[in-house]
Amino acid sequence: MLSGDQGLPDGIGMARLAWSRLPTADGAAPLPEGPAASAPAQDELFVGAVESLDYEVIENYAYREEQAQRSKFWVPYYIMLKWFFALLIGVGTGLAAIFINLAVENFSGWKFTLTFAIIQHSYFVGFLVYILLNLALVFSSVYIVTQFAPAAAGSGIPEIKGYLNGVDTHGILLFRTLVGKIFGSIGSVGGGLALGKEGPLVHTGACIASLLGQGGSAKYHLNSRWVQIFESDRDRRDLVTCGCAAGVAAAFRAPVGGVLFALEEVTSWWRSHLMWRVFFTSAVVAVVVRSAMNWCDSGKCGHFGAGGFIIWDISGGQEDYSYQELLPVAIIGVIGGLLGALFNQLTLYITKWRRTYLHKKGKRVQIFEACLISLITSTVSFVLPLLRKCSPCPELETNSGIQCPHPPGTDGNFVNFYCSKDNEYNDLATIFFNSQDDAIRNLFSAKTFHEYSAQSLITFLVMFYSLAVVTFGTAVPAGQFVPGIMIGSTYGRLVGMSVVKFYKKLNVDEGTYALLGAASFLGGSMRMTVSLCVIMVEITNNLQLLPLIMLVLLISKAVGDFFNEGLYEEQARLKGIPLLDSRPKQVMRNMNAKDACKNQKVVCLPRVSRVVDIVSVLQSNKHNGFPIVERGQNGESLVIGLILRSHLLVLLQSKVDFQNTPFPCGPGILNRHNFSDFVKPASSKGKSIDDIHLTDEELGLYLDLAPFLNPSPYIVPEDMSLAKVYNLFRQLGLRHIFVVPRPSRVVGLITRKDLLLEEDGNTATTELQSTSV
Ligand code: ATP
Repeated sequence: MLSGDQGLPDGIGMARLAWSRLPTADGAAPLPEGPAASAPAQDELFVGAVESLDYEVIENYAYREEQAQRSKFWVPYYIMLKWFFALLIGVGTGLAAIFINLAVENFSGWKFTLTFAIIQHSYFVGFLVYILLNLALVFSSVYIVTQFAPAAAGSGIPEIKGYLNGVDTHGILLFRTLVGKIFGSIGSVGGGLALGKEGPLVHTGACIASLLGQGGSAKYHLNSRWVQIFESDRDRRDLVTCGCAAGVAAAFRAPVGGVLFALEEVTSWWRSHLMWRVFFTSAVVAVVVRSAMNWCDSGKCGHFGAGGFIIWDISGGQEDYSYQELLPVAIIGVIGGLLGALFNQLTLYITKWRRTYLHKKGKRVQIFEACLISLITSTVSFVLPLLRKCSPCPELETNSGIQCPHPPGTDGNFVNFYCSKDNEYNDLATIFFNSQDDAIRNLFSAKTFHEYSAQSLITFLVMFYSLAVVTFGTAVPAGQFVPGIMIGSTYGRLVGMSVVKFYKKLNVDEGTYALLGAASFLGGSMRMTVSLCVIMVEITNNLQLLPLIMLVLLISKAVGDFFNEGLYEEQARLKGIPLLDSRPKQVMRNMNAKDACKNQKVVCLPRVSRVVDIVSVLQSNKHNGFPIVERGQNGESLVIGLILRSHLLVLLQSKVDFQNTPFPCGPGILNRHNFSDFVKPASSKGKSIDDIHLTDEELGLYLDLAPFLNPSPYIVPEDMSLAKVYNLFRQLGLRHIFVVPRPSRVVGLITRKDLLLEEDGNTATTELQSTSV
């Protein structure tokens, strides 16, 4: 039992604990100790590259002041603005998706139409034009990314996943990243690289949400103060979650898939209120995209109207399945797991190699690399179909809506490319020398049988898989959904062909197996289940196949998990994003909080510090939080809270709180700062101590830190198991926890009933007790 009066929480709202490791400083300003000696490996890995977010509310004086000044209309205004922003995120992301699709489809359409017109006269000139057009588009993309928005490279999903897990990667949510992502995606996808635009759309949605949340971009003077009420990372986290869902909803026209993607794949914290808002945003996206499609259907959007948005309607295909098909379906799941895990591993190795040897050499090397991959991709996709023999057009039902042949660049199957007769088609060109969406539509195609030879499918699978692995990690915006769907649908179709051959009696459709293959590869690589399942159903309009899709996803995920982690987790780890899993590691059960900070020398600051000492602390380490200590009445050291580096920098820069005396300041401090002064824009580098210039005279002044600190940081006793600390940290989204000696006195005990307060502040305990009798 704990007893005694030896300095435990004293009931004035501050965490006042006897702090055994503090230097027993006397006088005005005891110099803090040097930087922490522990965990050097972690330090080296993460410090500087990424920073944690403050999901905890810093209840400093400015916060309390602002709370006190809020009128009764503030809460309704706040809620209304959140819903309004959810609407804007939906509209913004939907419009961005339409713009990207419109541009990509038109660039691809013009490219194929022009190339096809030229190859009627000369294949060589056609080939040159084709590779030059692709090169120009890819160059524009890599140039934008390397020169203007480096954080726009890749899909952005690992970084957003990190953000929602509490880790801020510099640059990922800036305005220029948004612009770079949109225009970079157009170039990289339009340029025919083996990548997609869906991951980038998730990032785009997140950027739009974050910029709205912070009231615009101050740097580009595109901001407004009246909407700057989301001042905590916690509020912005919710908006970014809406943005991610909107991205998927827009990319696939799959609103429910978007909600589930946010829930399953990217967020670490989820609340029922958030579900509502995310659902609303996805619904808005669906409406915006639908309206655009209706408008474009009338032919006002050039090639976009014909090529369309991602939606591969495979209605008309197989609607039922027999139990004999479960074996081939399971085989597809296993292949998906194996190829997906291999894809993750290969991309991991190549990305590591790139970072170590290639990208360090500068932007020119990155540009050269992307251009080289573009040349290889264009050559492969043009030359390989030339080596295939064309086949005669099949007999098609007149009302099937399908024509044979089709020139590339127009919507449909059976591309006529390098064929000697007009009524022939080239099966490899149908999937290789075509835009991605059309290629997938052709692979999923339900109404055409035996359209592709096994040889063409195997050639495409090997080449496209290799290209996707090599392209992953280049300095362009790149998503992995569409390449995954193309790879998976190829081997799915191959399995389908075998089933048609061996189970002749079954009414099997190859296109259906292509769909199952696509699901299995995505499951094997990304390891999503529920969201992928719903996305696949939504994009193919085929509910009958739900049980089969569920089966392949479960198998492919299980097989993949046996070998390695999911693609996004692997990439996050490689980028140095310290994601916290939902569960602690087993080893943590045998460790306690003290073990985690062994040999650590805590860097603290006294309540009233000399400016020069604060500067010296900030220069000597990169920590972002410092305990503040005060000398108690009996001379003992008391910890009165935690101050953030960013807040110290604000105070040093503004200088208004500097004082001549080393004594606590009086009430005159109030109203010098708004809470918003302390808010750092998301993913910006923020201020650095090197940016702050102080005169010798200013360095000799003092600063009372008490009004600016977080007086109630989370505290755990040193012998609490590390697993418990982990759960607390993870579930509350904390950034710092103080580890203290076992407390010696308890001033109270709070239970569930003490927290059931009425609006007037009275406890509902009595009422509860009376009802329970
Ligand atoms: P984050 O990086 O999550 O934003 P931070 O910057 O405050 O938080 P780091 O400096 O990255 O924390 O932490 C690196 C190591 O330094 C950790 O082991 C941590 O326990 C330790 N550490 C952090 N703050 C202090 C401090 N004030 N005194 C001593 N050690 C610290």
